Amino acid sequence: MALLIETGLSDWMSDDEIAEEIRRLAPNADVRTPDTIGDASEITMIALVALKDDHPSRLPNLQLVQKLGAGVETIVSNPILPSNVRIARLKPDAPAQGIAEWFLAYILRRQRHMAFHESAQRRSEWIPKAPLFSPETKVGVLGLGHIGARTAEMLRAVGFQVIGWSRSPKSIEGVVCLHGENALTALLGQCDHICAILPSTPLTSGLFDEEMLSKIKPGSQLLNAGRGDLIDEIALVTALNNGNLSHAVLDVTSEEPLPASSPLWRHPNVTITPHVSGWHLGEALADVAENFQRLSSGKPILHEVDRERGY
Ligand code: NDP
Repeated sequence: MALLIETGLSDWMSDDEIAEEIRRLAPNADVRTPDTIGDASEITMIALVALKDDHPSRLPNLQLVQKLGAGVETIVSNPILPSNVRIARLKPDAPAQGIAEWFLAYILRRQRHMAFHESAQRRSEWIPKAPLFSPETKVGVLGLGHIGARTAEMLRAVGFQVIGWSRSPKSIEGVVCLHGENALTALLGQCDHICAILPSTPLTSGLFDEEMLSKIKPGSQLLNAGRGDLIDEIALVTALNNGNLSHAVLDVTSEEPLPASSPLWRHPNVTITPHVSGWHLGEALADVAENFQRLSSGKPILHEVDRERGY
């Protein structure tokens, strides 16, 4: 049984760095990279960022695909992955904290009129403008999973009124927790900031179409750090142009990198960050090492994905 590390990325941790760290965490593990793969029939687990179409045929004895991240939509929906191959994701603290901070930063930017004051400063103009008051501000958090719950707790601790939304019932101290399809429009109609941190699934893809965007309280800000396909970007630009939505902050877009031709780049009421909100992996590689050992000894896998549900 061997673990293959194959990220194929050049702007993140290298395969060798990841393999070295996993060998340090699990000294007896047989950890390989594309350069040292040897007999591919010995590979039972692969740790990757994106599943390639030839992975299942190249790795005939593959049992577990370990995503080096959280979003598994392209793995779950890939028909070439045999149904007996399991999928696991990571749930580290570091990106959850990072994404919660990203939401908080862009909410505070608006609450404190930072763009307005920076622009006035460039013109040497002294223009007092009352900041918005957090206890009077309602923030909606869509998705109350590993990252959404952390976000809701952080925003609550800062002093905002927080309303969360998930598929199944949740309980988070100080947070009004709603669930189910019908509850979403009630949340959208009363929140000043809407933070989306949902997985991409058949139920969430395209959820924010023209009709759903029209349910948002006029003048609100929409922030998305989950997956770009949540939002119909043409309908988003229309909602921003109508003034119904005042600002969108997007860490994820339907196509990444966002093409230079996208009107989102130049829209005055859109802020783009290039999928950086949850950058740090933190302690997550320990779970990759642990999962390899669990797979080898037949124990339950950490953070296994429900292939049917899609996350
Ligand atoms: P979790 O699986 O822990 O949580 C997902 C949450 O979304 C759950 O609360 C779930 O509800 C809810 N949800 C899913 N489908 C629906 C639906 N149809 N209606 C209502 N609620 C729904 O995931 P994480 O919090 O760890 O991550 C969420 C997503 O964030 C990831 O899938 C990934 O795409 C993205 N992400 C982005 C990163 C970035 O850098 N921008 C980094 C990491 C992740 P329930 O609890 O009831 O199941």
